[in-house]
Amino acid sequence: MTSSTPAQLYVIALGSNRRGRHGAPEAEVRAALAAIGGVMRASPIIATAPLGPSRRRFANAAALIKTREEPPELLARIKVIERSFGRRRGRRWDSRVIDLDIILWSGGAWSDPGLTIPHPQFRRRGFVLQPLNAIVPDWRDPLSGRTVRQLAAQLVQGE
Ligand code: ATP
Ligand code: CA
Ligand code: CA
Repeated sequence: MTSSTPAQLYVIALGSNRRGRHGAPEAEVRAALAAIGGVMRASPIIATAPLGPSRRRFANAAALIKTREEPPELLARIKVIERSFGRRRGRRWDSRVIDLDIILWSGGAWSDPGLTIPHPQFRRRGFVLQPLNAIVPDWRDPLSGRTVRQLAAQLVQGE
């Protein structure tokens, strides 16, 4: 990382459905925001019904982050944060103290074997689009060309 690396903006989705050392899922989401740093905007934390086989409610939020890290560097760092929060390795839909996903970034689309931006599922997920709509309603999905506001409205209408 050099001083000439331009700052990038990232939209991160946060989710928790398990207590950790910071407390209830809402407290874990707040602590994760502090751990990530560089937060320019953070959405309210919403409560979401369980997804997949897990029966625990989620706390979900989104944040706009400013950093000079390239996407793989940021992904590596958020994985360290997930582990330090006590997330266990294993099943995808298992309950977790914290899940941090990169949804969008200022560089458009990114794709490598370990990382896809925009996050492939985000257009279908109200628990992602609702918090996103609170912080970056005018950001455009580089694939569909639609704004976050449009994607959120579309999902609510069930289109
Ligand atoms: P989903 O991705 O459907 O929300 P999940 O968050 O439960 O499911 P994980 O087990 O947390 O899935 O992540 C699996 C892998 O997905 C990660 O190890 C990471 O390498 C990869 N990945 C690909 N694209 C992204 C992205 N945009 N943000 C975060 N991880 C990603
Ligand atoms: Ca996820
Ligand atoms: Ca994840």
